[in-house]
Amino acid sequence: MQYQSTRDKKQKVSASRAILQGISAEGGLFVPEKLPELSIQRLERMIDQDYIRRAQDILGDFLSDFSREEIASCLQNAYGSGNFASSKIAPLSRLGKDAYLLELWHGPTCAFKDMALQLLPQLMVVSAKKSGKGEETVILVATSGDTGKAALEGFRDVPGIRIVVFYPEEGVSPLQKLQMATQEGENVFVAAIQGNFDDAQTGVKRLFSDRETIEKLRAQNRVFSSANSINWGRLLPQIVYYVSAYCDLVQEEQIALGEPINVCVPTGNFGNILAAYYAKRMGLPIRKLICASNRNNVLSDFIRTGTYDRNRPFYATSSPSMDILVSSNLERLLFHLMDEEDERIKDLMSQLTDKGRYTVAPDVLARLQVDFAGGFCDEAQTADTIRRVFENYSYLCDPHTAVAVSVYEQYRDQNGDDTKTVIASTASPYKFPHSVLSALGEELSGQDAFEIAQKLEQVSQCPMPGQLSGLRNKPIRFTESFSKEQMGYALERAL
Ligand SMILES: *Cc1c(COP(=O)(O)O)cnc(C)c1O
Repeated sequence: MQYQSTRDKKQKVSASRAILQGISAEGGLFVPEKLPELSIQRLERMIDQDYIRRAQDILGDFLSDFSREEIASCLQNAYGSGNFASSKIAPLSRLGKDAYLLELWHGPTCAFKDMALQLLPQLMVVSAKKSGKGEETVILVATSGDTGKAALEGFRDVPGIRIVVFYPEEGVSPLQKLQMATQEGENVFVAAIQGNFDDAQTGVKRLFSDRETIEKLRAQNRVFSSANSINWGRLLPQIVYYVSAYCDLVQEEQIALGEPINVCVPTGNFGNILAAYYAKRMGLPIRKLICASNRNNVLSDFIRTGTYDRNRPFYATSSPSMDILVSSNLERLLFHLMDEEDERIKDLMSQLTDKGRYTVAPDVLARLQVDFAGGFCDEAQTADTIRRVFENYSYLCDPHTAVAVSVYEQYRDQNGDDTKTVIASTASPYKFPHSVLSALGEELSGQDAFEIAQKLEQVSQCPMPGQLSGLRNKPIRFTESFSKEQMGYALERAL
């Protein structure tokens, strides 16, 4: 299977090249030329398989320049060696009559980013071997919290790779900071930046394109790569869990084989929900994809009106991983909805860069609305949902998941659609103990994250994951902070 660029279809590369390169030279994103088909017979065969076998089946079609053995060993390293606290990897938990939470946070860092970032490094190592250049890959990440830690865990001590993570010193939660400062591994470096997330991101982009830095690396037989969510190698692992969740529902006799479900996803960069769209296009029986936004509702406005407009206030919310105004992966969806017309995509994307907005044609909007519904919820609704879900179902959910639950409920009530729905649950509530405990109405002045988490355990009777409670006793390894101008120096130190 070949991959083509959304901005120039003539640019075609193999799977391993798409994964190594991350983005096409002219700025487009790689998408599969043709999607494999997921027939009912094929689904039926998967029902009694475990997560890794299902993944093997699906990945095989997409990674056509990988051998069966290579894929099997990547999957074993990612999901097989006790890296996930649940043997099901992504278990379902029932919520009321017609909804199920798909828990994607049982990996090493307790956020759904682990689902992809445990596998991507394995795929990169194999891809680098295929390229045969023997170079060391240097991964640079700018993070607002979840991605940095998940990437560090995924890439740590992976041979042939070094990883450097920059995070804004004042822009991440105390727990997220501790997760990164205590990171283990011989090939990792973590740098706090005196600035905000945009400063860190801009600095990383500058390093990526800085001639002098690139030359210096080349002399050391090193190349840059990126682990952010526009890399195809991050989307692909996410297709698997929607297929797997469907199989689990059939196996547990919650639905009949072939019965359509809805999927509701708390959305930021449009990666997670796009993976569900690919699963639908392949043939997984999905009726509606429900895109849930927080107060930064640029996506739900787009799905309603056909106009994408980033010229609006930015709100810092209790679901920070969804605080995004430019959702990069939307470009891939537009490419598919617009009959793969690369010139039109290029035009829309330059409108977005120049004016911060674009409008799609009515026929494109109509097609979008066949597959997608959108909705959003504000901070008060998020907190209220956390409280209600706990009171009604004794289930503790994090603020991102709560946004999705609230939007699902709104969609169901407005449309009278009682199709069984899988709601993506994207983080452990213990990653955001402050927001969750205060949503439950508890007082929390002057307590640190661990004290708050302990209180949350007492109130909820749900245990804190060991991956987080264990941080308390881990030695701090990274304490340095750098000015924006010193990021090149930080990179030198790291290497
Ligand atoms: C990254 C993230 C999201 C958003 O996912 P996208 O793929 O960017 O849409 C939602 N919830 C959590 C907890 C996340 O870390």
